[in-house]
Amino acid sequence: MSEKLRELRHRLQEIDDLRAVYNLLNWDQQTHMPVGGAEARGRESALVARLEHEKFTDPEMGRLLDSLVHLEQERDYDDDDASLVRVTRRLYEHATRFPTAFWSHLFEHSSRTYEAWARARAEGDFSLVREHLEVTLELSLELAEFNRPWEHVMDGLTWDREYGTTASQVRRLFGELVDGIVPLVKEIAERPAPDDSFLRATWPRQEQLAFAADVVRDLGYDFDRGRLDTTRHPFASRLSRGDVRITTRVNEGDLRECLFSAIHEAGHAMYEQGVAENLAGTPLSRRGASHGMHESQSRLWENLVGRSKGFWEHRFSALRDAFPEQLAGVDAHTFYRAINRVEPGTIRLFADELTYNLHMIIRTELELDLLEGALAIRDLEEAWNAKYEAYLGVRPASASEGVLQDVHWYGGTIVLPAIIGGAFQGYALGNLIGAQLYAAAASERPALDEDIAAGRFEWLHGWLTEKVYRHGRKYLAPELVERATGSELSTAPYLAYVRRKFGEIYDIRV
Ligand code: ZN
Repeated sequence: MSEKLRELRHRLQEIDDLRAVYNLLNWDQQTHMPVGGAEARGRESALVARLEHEKFTDPEMGRLLDSLVHLEQERDYDDDDASLVRVTRRLYEHATRFPTAFWSHLFEHSSRTYEAWARARAEGDFSLVREHLEVTLELSLELAEFNRPWEHVMDGLTWDREYGTTASQVRRLFGELVDGIVPLVKEIAERPAPDDSFLRATWPRQEQLAFAADVVRDLGYDFDRGRLDTTRHPFASRLSRGDVRITTRVNEGDLRECLFSAIHEAGHAMYEQGVAENLAGTPLSRRGASHGMHESQSRLWENLVGRSKGFWEHRFSALRDAFPEQLAGVDAHTFYRAINRVEPGTIRLFADELTYNLHMIIRTELELDLLEGALAIRDLEEAWNAKYEAYLGVRPASASEGVLQDVHWYGGTIVLPAIIGGAFQGYALGNLIGAQLYAAAASERPALDEDIAAGRFEWLHGWLTEKVYRHGRKYLAPELVERATGSELSTAPYLAYVRRKFGEIYDIRV
């Protein structure tokens, strides 16, 4: 390894360690910290984030990267070192584009907006936050300007989490999804709903946690390099390659929250645990190819595996052993149908697997309209309600259940929330990518469904590690999809999957 490359890796390792410290502070804050620690923790986290940013944007880092750019020409695109220089250069270029004054202005504005939003939501009155959001939109457009060149202003805002996927692709894919899902949801609404009354029992906390831990261990989550705790808003957190933690939330009145949150976060964590050792300590080791790609893994394990018929054929007896009274008289098939009940509603957080995408698409389409100037903030609430009516057949009773339900736009910019993971589009893209990956895996291994129905997940976990996890952030999401599945991202595998699954549950000929 050349001296320069060694120097780059050394600097990146220190930055990665600062990120680990930041994540550890945050993990502690979300799981164990007493409320009294909040003020100091805010200060500590801000300090570590600032040190990390300063180290990364140090002009010496720029010079070092310039002196290594020749590796990109000399070596293969796939080469780890060439990829390290290519991706780090891209991140460095972006990180050094914004004047510090812009960021501090944006953050001040965000915290004022957040407070106004909390009041507006409590009162169900969008007008209380409307003017703040108008400024947010202006700042979002300004932020995008720093990221030129782009084809669409949205691309100037998704550079960090969805780089390589453009707004025009998203519009086309989401249009196809709407055309495919909306009629299916309408048909489902006319069929008798599966009985899920038995789910409204009391499910003791310890048994739920023990069951969830057993499930994620069997799926391939490595507890020697992780742990499971509880929190309010579940998340996964990579400290280092040897320590990727997950959290879940327990609701004793609803068995599904703890289990499916745990599987979801384990999907994220297995991605991070599977990154190749050679990429550890560099930007290639964190956050995967994109937010959508990351979400594809949480959703693949949660939905395509965890909510599948085969999975419950195998697992239901263990669940009934854990909850014999609550599940007396219930069989695996009844349980499978109950947890897959489709119920169009106004609240994203309660959405089922099928309608979930529509919630994300509605938000993304509104974002595009706002950014393009086709929609004004003063008309946003009505546009929101109209889309819910058109796509889901429901209308929010108040702004709290509608345009004010998510913090995202009120805690950062339109499209990119500062305080949470990624843009809305990433969740829907994740469902598409997950279905396409699963279909590719199944065509390589025709016995995949039988594996799942027998409780064997090693092959699938190994295939995903080989095709996706080990590459970390080396490739862009579209590149990785094409390499893993042989074709570019399409809605066909996802639409085929939901038609097959929900068509069977609801006895609809498709
Ligand atoms: Zn997720």
